[in-house]
Amino acid sequence: MLSGLLLNIYNNVKEKIEIDEKTIYEIDVYLKKKKGRYIYFESFQKLFHFNDKETSIIFGEFVKASIMEMKFQQFCPSCNTILHGTYDSVFDLLGKEVCDDCGETLFDDKEPFKYITVKFKVKK
Ligand SMILES: [Zn+2]
Repeated sequence: MLSGLLLNIYNNVKEKIEIDEKTIYEIDVYLKKKKGRYIYFESFQKLFHFNDKETSIIFGEFVKASIMEMKFQQFCPSCNTILHGTYDSVFDLLGKEVCDDCGETLFDDKEPFKYITVKFKVKK
């Protein structure tokens, strides 16, 4: 049986995708080992066999439960790198519009969040 917070996560996730209690429990065990560290979509998917949509839904519920948090970085498609600096809010990045490495402008008037990438970190 899952308790409190995890049960709540399980109920929210299973409304959207097929998942069992055991898997939610195993994800929680995995996240506990990763406290203070970043979780990558790819490694999570390999381990638990979820697709992108399912992973997003699961991560979303763990973020809402304050077990994980979102961090934001800027991405330069021109030199194919992620810029230095990780930010707590997506809005902290607006205005940082030029790539440190190649000088490419990283702002799109029509799509302000185009060059921003999300990372997921397990809270301590
Ligand atoms: Zn660049």
